[in-house]
Amino acid sequence: MSLVLWLLPGPRSSHSTSYICPGAWRARTWQGPPVASVGAPAYDVVVVGAGIVGASCAHRLAEAGLSVCIVDRGPVVSGTTGAGEGNILVSDKEPGPELDLALLSARLWHELAGTLPDAVEIDAKGGIIVTSSEAGLAVLVAAAERQRGHGIVADVVDREQLADLEPHLSPVVLGGVSYPQDMQVQPMLAAAHLLRAARALGADVKPRTRMVGVERARDGAVRGVVTDAGTIACRHLVNAAGTWGGEVASLAGGPVPVLPRRGFILVTEPLPPTVHHKVYGADYVANVASDSAGLETSPVVESTRAGTVLIGASRERVGFDRTTSYDVLGRLAAQAIALFPVLAGVRVQRTYGGFRPYCPDHLPVIGPDPRVDGLVHACGHEGAGIGLAPATALLVTQAITGEATTIPIGAFSPSRFGEAA
Ligand SMILES: Cc1cc2nc3c(=O)[nH]c(=O)nc-3n(C[C@H](O)[C@H](O)[C@H](O)COP(=O)(O)OP(=O)(O)OC[C@H]3O[C@@H](n4cnc5c(N)ncnc54)[C@H](O)[C@@H]3O)c2cc1C
Repeated sequence: MSLVLWLLPGPRSSHSTSYICPGAWRARTWQGPPVASVGAPAYDVVVVGAGIVGASCAHRLAEAGLSVCIVDRGPVVSGTTGAGEGNILVSDKEPGPELDLALLSARLWHELAGTLPDAVEIDAKGGIIVTSSEAGLAVLVAAAERQRGHGIVADVVDREQLADLEPHLSPVVLGGVSYPQDMQVQPMLAAAHLLRAARALGADVKPRTRMVGVERARDGAVRGVVTDAGTIACRHLVNAAGTWGGEVASLAGGPVPVLPRRGFILVTEPLPPTVHHKVYGADYVANVASDSAGLETSPVVESTRAGTVLIGASRERVGFDRTTSYDVLGRLAAQAIALFPVLAGVRVQRTYGGFRPYCPDHLPVIGPDPRVDGLVHACGHEGAGIGLAPATALLVTQAITGEATTIPIGAFSPSRFGEAA
């Protein structure tokens, strides 16, 4: 059993055998006609995927009074959430729907910071984008100007100010833009504690339970989620399967194009305070938005509460190839040392990698699927799923309960891919 599972209250058994019997059954029962193979009791919602997005959805839905079951084919946070860095960024977003989502999410992370335990390490440390060239600085300043009218605080900083903010930064760095709204969180612990909070509100968490299909009523509406441990009757299915959201969507009859974008991280030995903000190179923003399938790397450096320094970031489209690339790791190390020469003598403690769930237009898929009544998507967040999880959960909950959504969700709709996707 994974360590994070031990954070969940209640019995520690992680296996369901044949029939799934919800423990969180409440007053809201299924109102429609019966379906032979799906028996009551039922849940209002089954969430597929216990990463940060699924955990946030389960928590928010349970808070709204819905009966919720969350299933994951593996242990909780066994997907990309266990391979992310934990940045909650507004700095890398251009004005538009994703920035609106990021600003909403940043606000919700602040609220969560007041309710989740300190162990989730929410840290409003701020981010700084830096550059060593005049041309690069002009690009950063222009981006900051565009962002400022849209709720982002962006302060241009020169070399002297940078030396105060980050004393170990290389003197070749010319300047940058500081973004005090950027934050950091420990994503695995955040997801585990959100699951714990959801469970305290009555949600059921079922690890090692793989969704393999969907039961649909005669009118095509979702009536149950078929798993390798039995069928779970429900009214809504939330697809929070991250990089595997495309597979789950197809199983549910509403395909969406979600693909893997591989990334690696280097983790140093614990150090005394050395890097105080999330510091990243100007190339990072261009890489995030790039459509290139080839390898792209840019320096992203930040410390954790434990003292380790996380070094990223690489992006490449190589399918689900998990082979460690020493070439990529070497590039990441070199770029980090160019930014922080002090890191040259530091030992690497471990490396890890994962697959960002990306859609061709780099926007997540959030909201009801018009092709399948009861299917709601919450996947495809690429390199921003940790940051965007609370806002996604709010919008999913609002869509399910029929409330007006806090921000428009049209740009995230699965309809944008066309009928067949
Ligand atoms: C190197 C790297 C660095 C990153 N850094 C950041 C960062 O700093 N900030 C940020 O916001 N984001 C970051 N990301 C992206 C972020 O990690 C993801 O966007 C986010 O974790 C996606 O969360 P999720 O819950 O949607 O998916 P996941 O965490 O992948 O969860 C999906 C779950 O669905 C389960 N599942 C799949 N199929 C089924 C099925 N059929 N039945 C049951 N369960 C199923 C999987 O087992 C998995 O646990 C990074 C990613 C990488 C790779």
